[in-house]
Order: sequence, then structure tokens, then C-alpha cells
Amino acid sequence: MIKAIRGTRDLLPPETALWNFVEAAARDVFRAYNFQEIRTPIFEETQLFARSVGEETDIVSKEMYTWENRGRAQSEKGQSLTLRPENTAGVVRAYIEHKLWDRGLNKLYYIGPQFRRERPQKGRYRQFYQIGAEAIGPPSAGSESPARDAEMLEMLATFLDRLGITGWNLELNSVGCPNDRARCNEALRKALEPVVSKMCADCQRRAVTNPLRVFDCKVPEDQPIIEKLPRISQFLDEPCRTHFAEVQEILQAVGVPFRLNDRLVRGLDYYTRTAFEFTHGALGAQNAILGGGRYDGLSESLGGPQAPGIGFAIGEDRLVMSLKESAEAVARKPEVYIAPLGADMNREAARLARELRRHDLVVELGDESFRMKKSLETASKLGARYALIVGENEVKADAFGLKNLETGEQIPVPHHELAAKIQAGR
Ligand code: AMP
Repeated sequence: MIKAIRGTRDLLPPETALWNFVEAAARDVFRAYNFQEIRTPIFEETQLFARSVGEETDIVSKEMYTWENRGRAQSEKGQSLTLRPENTAGVVRAYIEHKLWDRGLNKLYYIGPQFRRERPQKGRYRQFYQIGAEAIGPPSAGSESPARDAEMLEMLATFLDRLGITGWNLELNSVGCPNDRARCNEALRKALEPVVSKMCADCQRRAVTNPLRVFDCKVPEDQPIIEKLPRISQFLDEPCRTHFAEVQEILQAVGVPFRLNDRLVRGLDYYTRTAFEFTHGALGAQNAILGGGRYDGLSESLGGPQAPGIGFAIGEDRLVMSLKESAEAVARKPEVYIAPLGADMNREAARLARELRRHDLVVELGDESFRMKKSLETASKLGARYALIVGENEVKADAFGLKNLETGEQIPVPHHELAAKIQAGR
């Protein structure tokens, strides 16, 4: 038997109703902040991720699904392609390719699968789904403003509240600009030098390539060493400091609670200034529901114009896991089961089904080969609220037996009153 491959999974009904519920809420909330949807391809040139996410990151160095293009055209030969491990790079590529700066500030959101070859565990998959957004544009459009950061964070708080997710924590830090980070990395290298040999293999590598990432380490034995290291917050220059203070002040003004976490550095290289994560206690080890931050230099590093931006990616798999709502509660069950009884009733039943569905009713259509008993059993099993009996006599009278499957009560309803009657029972 062929099975879904490790780290991937089928999303089945009724759980898919929860996914739709989350996605519909995202579209609705994001729209109120004037974000619009963008859909970029699932695979891109490998270079795009190497240059944006960063060669030294875990994602690029060991987690990407990469293959060689076998196209015929000269430009395709030997070209390296990769399944997207995240979507910001694709959005910024599209921003540059389509010169989206002509529209000023672009507020874009996406919903879709991402791919990383990570060790699968609860809440961690190789094909997982992200809902994300980016606000990007030329500085003249205000894209650098702390107002953008605060607006995005407030939007996320509103979105989580709308989903009824309580107990989330917003952790906030500033990772400064490249100059601040260079000074911090230098101080970190110095501080790490005498102790690094006692740390885990990952930290030993990070100490050489990107010392700031040592703060990502989760190995318990390394924590006492890490606790004593200098923090990026000590190296922020004046503009970065002011920017971060303003973000916090707006958040306080609009009543979004947050906690400063000066160990939060985020895994990707392109982040500048504001970095954030929303965590949720109920999720266990993989407790980050979403992460994001500013990436003021990303467009330029991909050959585009100056285009400061800020974005986030929500792990949809984890978001669905943290919902209190049950799939049963959000799924729309059939409101009526149409039971054609007797020969030649399929046609009449199909006509009625078509009509009722046009009144936005969820209709399940039975088959004339079923007897009354089997029809009613099927209808109950599906969770339908009503069964509609379509027999020869009913067709002649143009009035149909509507049976309430909860109470067992059955009444004849004239054809023209059917839709209204079923809707009234909602
Ligand atoms: P990142 O793009 O790494 O900043 O991740 C943003 C969010 O995506 C995280 O907070 C997680 O919720 C989610 N995420 C990242 N990697 C995975 C994965 N392998 N499986 C499930 N969710 C993930």
C-alpha cells in the first residue's frame, strides 16, 4: 500500500472545516486592515532562498527540497530549483519583478503550503501551512514607520482574539540594523571564545558563522552560558532604539499586551529591528504559533530598490491545534436530506435539490432505490436536520413531507414554502 510520505499528512473532513474557519477569519480580519491576497509559485530558484533566508541558516543549509531543473531551454539547464521553505522571499521577488512600488505601500497576505526537511514531531511537519502577510514599499510611503509594526501586531492580536484563542503571549525584541548586529556579534565572539568548547555542536558552529543565533539554542546545559552573554539590546543605535520605543508605545496605547524578550533573535538572516513571536502554552515543545519581523534590507539584497518591510508567518497547523472550537461546531451539516421514494422520483428530487441549494441550503440527495427506512437512517447518520419525502402523491399535490429528524414530527409543506420553512429551522 502506498502511504503519504513521512512528515506530510492528509487533512480530512470534518477537520478541514476548522482550516476553512481559520482561513475565512484571516481573510476577513486582514481585509479590514487593507491587506490583499498574493499567490506566488510553490517552487522558485534556489538562489532566491539562499540569498534572502541566508546560507548559514538551518533552513537553507539542511532543510530545503532542492533539485535540478531538467528543462530543455538553455536557461533552464542546470538551474537549481527549491520548494519554498517560507513565503516572504517569494513575495519580495514578486514585488521587485512586478515593480509593485508603483502602488506605494503594498499590504499583501498569503495562505499556502511550505516545505522543510525537518525531523517530524507533533506540530512539526515537512509540508506545513502558513498564513502570512507583508507590508512593504518605498520609505516615502511610510514603510519604515513603527506605526506599521504596531498595526501588524495589533492585527495579529485581533485575529487570535477573533478565533477565540486565549492565553497567547506576544514576545518582542529589536535585532537592530546590520551595524548593531556586527558590533553585537563581535562582542559575542569575544565572550564565547573561552566557553564555546563546552557548548553543543550547533553552538560551536554558530559561534563562528553567526554568533547571534546562539540564542536559538534549546540545549539545557548551554543555557547558563547563554544567560551571561551580551544582548543585542545593548548595541542598538539611537534610531533603532527610538523606533523600538515607538512600537511599544503604540501597542500600549491600543492595549495589546507584550513581553520584552531580549533573547528573541529569530532564525532567518534578513530580519532587522522589530522581531516578534506569538507563543501559546497549550502547544508543548513547539509552542510558537507565529513569528515575524522587519526586513528593511531584503529587497536590496535581492537586487531590488530600497523597500523596508515587515511581515509575519503563522503556522496554520499549530493554530488549528490551539483552537478550542471543535470541527463539528464549525462544519455545516446537511440541512435537508431529500428522499426520493418510488420509481422515476430521482428526476423530481434533483429538481428540488437544485432549487433548495440555490437558496444557500446544504442539501444531500438520496436515491430512489432506497426504502423509507434506509433513507431516514442515512439522513440521521449524516446529521441532517430534515428529511424531505418526494413520492408520487407529493409530486401531484406539489406539497412535500418535511420530517424534523430531531423531533420526528412530519408535516406537508407546499412547494413554494419549502426553502423558507427549512431556513426558519436554523
Ligand atoms: P518561521 O517561518 O520559521 O518563522 O515559522 C513561522 C511559523 O511557522 C512558526 O511559528 C510555526 O508556527 C510554523 N512552522 C515553522 N516550521 C514548521 C514546521 N516544520 N511544521 C509546522 N509548523 C511550522
